[in-house]
Amino acid sequence: SIIRSLKLTGSHGLHMSRCYASSVPTTKMFINNEFVESQTDKWVDLHNPATNEVVTRVPQSTRSEMEAAVAAAKAAFPAWSNTTVLTRQQIMFRLQDLIKKNMKRLAANITLEQGKTLVDAEGDVLRGLQVVEHCCSITSLQLGESMPGIAKDMDTFTFRMPLGVTAGITPFNFPAMIPLWMFPMAAVTGNTSVMKPSERDPGATMILMELCKEAGMPPGVVNVIHGTHDSVNFICDNPDIKAISFVGSDQAGQYIYERGSKSGKRVQSNMGAKNHGVIMPDANKESTLTSLIGAAFGAAGQRCMALSTAIFVGEAREWIPELVERARKLKVSAGTEPDADLGPVISPESKKRVCDLVQSGIDAGAEILLDGRDIQVKGYENGNFVGPTILHQVDPSMKCYTEEIFGPVLVSMEVETLDDAIEVVNSNPYGNGTAIFTTNGATARKYTMECDVGQVGVNVPIPVPLPMFSFTGSRGSFRGDQNFYGKQGIQFYTQIKTVTQMWRGEDAVSTRPATNMPV
Ligand code: NAD
Repeated sequence: SIIRSLKLTGSHGLHMSRCYASSVPTTKMFINNEFVESQTDKWVDLHNPATNEVVTRVPQSTRSEMEAAVAAAKAAFPAWSNTTVLTRQQIMFRLQDLIKKNMKRLAANITLEQGKTLVDAEGDVLRGLQVVEHCCSITSLQLGESMPGIAKDMDTFTFRMPLGVTAGITPFNFPAMIPLWMFPMAAVTGNTSVMKPSERDPGATMILMELCKEAGMPPGVVNVIHGTHDSVNFICDNPDIKAISFVGSDQAGQYIYERGSKSGKRVQSNMGAKNHGVIMPDANKESTLTSLIGAAFGAAGQRCMALSTAIFVGEAREWIPELVERARKLKVSAGTEPDADLGPVISPESKKRVCDLVQSGIDAGAEILLDGRDIQVKGYENGNFVGPTILHQVDPSMKCYTEEIFGPVLVSMEVETLDDAIEVVNSNPYGNGTAIFTTNGATARKYTMECDVGQVGVNVPIPVPLPMFSFTGSRGSFRGDQNFYGKQGIQFYTQIKTVTQMWRGEDAVSTRPATNMPV
């Protein structure tokens, strides 16, 4: 009873309220187009990773609050799925415009809560915005198929129908892009959603909700609940939720895929990664080293498509000292500092985990060529910083290779031939992304054909497909059978209704009942 709400402007703009009890602003939920204060007594403190100061408190939504969000989505579905496709398209046009206008505000919130640099945070928003822009083509994307004359006076056609209430569960590393892979695709195809953003940085999702409302999204079409395991279990088990989109770690992804599927839902689950960059001796050295450094250390290595393993083939090994010297020069600081190349990792626990994995590599015999574990960042002494780190002569049996590090650590190895490199890549259980650096077309073609990885870059370090394609991680990095966004995203959020119709003049109607199977 001592916790009373008082509106003020905080890290999420208008959607914060101050608790008299703690004086730390809280993050609200979004239900039926209203920002709602949770009545829970369970809160998660969210810290700025650059300073470890508490920025906001995120609620574990109560069961009745989560039920209210699903009820709002369920109630909104009949009318929303019956709006014209042009109405939904117009809302997407307005939403994309509003996201562009709020780019800086979204980026500032991402840097505050997640830690990445402001420029990188704008990239996070932009890559999500591109999905919204693609949604604006819904008038072509959701077309069905038709075949006239499948029998006398009969035609068959298909509609792509929405599923109903869908849910999205997102990770901390792309607080704008990944929610934008989900709810705009769900909404534009006629579904409603309940989003559960990462409890570590839900602020960007909350700003996006404000923009959805401003764009004219009716109440209940998109809702947001908060929390961790309880919310995830609620989503997996709720019979009104028909589909779950999940992006995050293996542990959570496998669990959600199994629990959600068991209760009859469609689930798409994008999970962890270990992405290899293969460096051929004929590659363009300058652009290869630049690409490798950007893709290994950018966003402090907290990207599922980070190139976290370098495989130097043959003479390419001679470039390693230069790689180390260039990586050493990267500026590590708070994401708000204009010259920062990389910011902090998300939490002190994450920093400890990264450092422990580096130590495990050293203990197992890897060479440490660059060690960023003891970095001190002036003015941000309490931040979770790890400087660029390079472990060389790493063996595929080492823990620093078998586990996803998710920090600014490049593990590196040497092999003699392209075939050796392909064997390493294909022996790794993950299949999210990979890149080869070469100036030889035949080498590039062989690699793209023989590596068993869902997203391949040729001289492109982070080959995340634009939304006219889909995000196609494979093997251990994905569960489900329809990938995110693009054509596959439309398929995930729709089910096919097939109509077979006969229109025949009165004079042609037979009076004899057909008891045989129609042929
Ligand atoms: P995470 O799995 O810890 O959290 C993701 C979501 O799942 C959060 O909303 C969280 O509340 C929930 N969650 C966490 N643990 C859970 C559990 N045990 N049971 C049920 N729910 C749980 O992931 P993260 O640390 O936020 O994100 C980093 C991970 O996400 C990395 O492994 C990264 O590779 C992966 N990722 C993958 C992709 C991709 O497209 N393949 C993209 C981005 C991130």
